[in-house]
Amino acid sequence: MKTINLLGSTGSIGVQALDVTRARGYKIEALAAFSDVEKIEQQIREFKPQYAALVDEKAAADLKIRVKDTSTKVLSGVEGVTACGAEAKGEITLNSVVGMAGLGPTLAAIEAGKTIALANKETLVAGGRLVTDAAKKKNVSILPVDSEHSAIFQCLLGSPSNKALKRIILTASGGPFFGKTKEELSNVTLKDALKHPSWSMGQKITIDSATMFNKGLELIEAVWLFSVSPDMIDIVVHRESIVHSLIEYDDNSVIAQLGHPDMRLPIQFALTYPERYESPEKQLDLWEVGNLTFYKPDYENFPCMDICKNAIKSGGLMPAAVNCANEEANLLFRQDKISFNDIPRLIIEASEKLQNKEDYVLQDVYDTDIFMRETVRELAHC
Ligand code: NDP
Ligand code: MG
Repeated sequence: MKTINLLGSTGSIGVQALDVTRARGYKIEALAAFSDVEKIEQQIREFKPQYAALVDEKAAADLKIRVKDTSTKVLSGVEGVTACGAEAKGEITLNSVVGMAGLGPTLAAIEAGKTIALANKETLVAGGRLVTDAAKKKNVSILPVDSEHSAIFQCLLGSPSNKALKRIILTASGGPFFGKTKEELSNVTLKDALKHPSWSMGQKITIDSATMFNKGLELIEAVWLFSVSPDMIDIVVHRESIVHSLIEYDDNSVIAQLGHPDMRLPIQFALTYPERYESPEKQLDLWEVGNLTFYKPDYENFPCMDICKNAIKSGGLMPAAVNCANEEANLLFRQDKISFNDIPRLIIEASEKLQNKEDYVLQDVYDTDIFMRETVRELAHC
């Protein structure tokens, strides 16, 4: 039986991770979230973890009172979440926190020697070198939960080394605005942007999918997870979201992983790896699926993919900078303070103001986060 510390337990991935845990009979040792007292209370009552934490101090104080009849110890603040990932007894820490708030807890869990199941892609984008260096030093595995990266990971399993790997092909659904011009994009609303064609996800990543920034984040995530150069990664729009990604070897043989769009499969594989078991994923019937289509991405009207590719090529703090600028711009769009096309414009303008440096430490990433968020707000007059 595996034991798991789950960060971001009340979110879209967190809840699906608990579905998988319940089905497999695994033990949850810690649950952590931001402020959703009601949901985490239910989860504590069902899974009886050793620890639970909420970042929000008031919500954590409320939770402590609500679950005082249980044996779960309630912690609070960022330190509480970090302790849930690092000090609780789980052998695997599944990080499904949203945003670069997940970086510190990921690093602490690596330091504590936990196997990392990583949904929180912003961790690798903001602190890629710090995270991969720490994992190497501690001999800790980072198992991808993101569906594309899980696909690539699965495709690579038959290959003892990545030596003959020539190309990674990331598939993208294209989001709700596939085919729209910049003009048409200038009028889209939050409600339109939240209508994802194939995946049901948290709001931040759903907006990232609409701008295609999500695919840019995934390109950077792939660079760090699979030690490849950004130029080895291509993106193809695949509206059906059945092919989750592909790899190409030197002999032009292409391997793909297919399945219905259901995050419980990549979550389960990260938790059961290297074993495979039955899953709730619906069996793939190719007769029923019929056609699979592929298109070139529209880099002109959706500039976020190139923003991310250029950032990882620039290196240093630039990937962190564009990620943090996007987190702020994404939030301002969700608060109806800026328009859809303002998102890439603000990220580009704000990142031009960054004093980049090649070698950085964790504090530089946090300073960049504050600077980029302030700069985006200033540029947006918010
Ligand atoms: P949600 O918004 O649904 O959930 C986010 C979770 O993180 C919630 O539990 C939330 O708590 C918690 N949280 C928010 N802020 C903080 C913080 N500062 N510190 C600690 N916990 C916090 O997001 P998703 O589940 O959709 O996404 C989570 C991560 O997984 C993201 O990085 C996303 O890119 C990635 N991902 C998601 C996919 C999906 O299908 N949803 C697919 C692939 C990757 P509370 O509820 O209390 O606010
Ligand atoms: Mg993905």
